[in-house]
Amino acid sequence: MSFGQKFALERTYMRQAFDLVRSWLPESFVDEAVFAPWADRLGQGEGRFPEALALLPSPERWPILEPACTVHFDSDPRDIFLGAITRKAYAFRQLEKLRDTAEHLPMFRVGWIGGSGSTTYHACRHDIVLPIAGPYLDQLLIEKVWACNCSTMAMSNPMLAARGLKVAKPLPQTVPTS
Ligand SMILES: [Zn+2]
Repeated sequence: MSFGQKFALERTYMRQAFDLVRSWLPESFVDEAVFAPWADRLGQGEGRFPEALALLPSPERWPILEPACTVHFDSDPRDIFLGAITRKAYAFRQLEKLRDTAEHLPMFRVGWIGGSGSTTYHACRHDIVLPIAGPYLDQLLIEKVWACNCSTMAMSNPMLAARGLKVAKPLPQTVPTS
């Protein structure tokens, strides 16, 4: 695969993520022009997006960005927005990979990071295991959450048995942060 093909593929995940997270805000609040400078930087493997940030509404114009599973008090809402679309772009790619390996690794485990900086919003996700076949990956993908560092890992049935993990039924409901 050439770099160009890889870049084009990545761009599709960025597009999905941008459209999804942008839809959590009032219509036209985030200008379409923000997409290109954000995607260009991310495509180069960078995690800071000064050109995209400059095109976003000034901080005092933003609504409160909730829910979140990591605390972001006093953060610039523009950083929270750019962080959210970046995480979703990586999630769209990672969850497609989970489907690609599902024959050998049919389950996925959700890890809740916890510790300082975490809210209780995703605490119910700690160590839950769900089948990759089914609606749960899609639910996780489109879930509205502004700041989240929870992880998702593919697992085989022997790996689950070795760790004493059991398959959950539905994706647990999240709990209010306040
Ligand atoms: Zn989370």
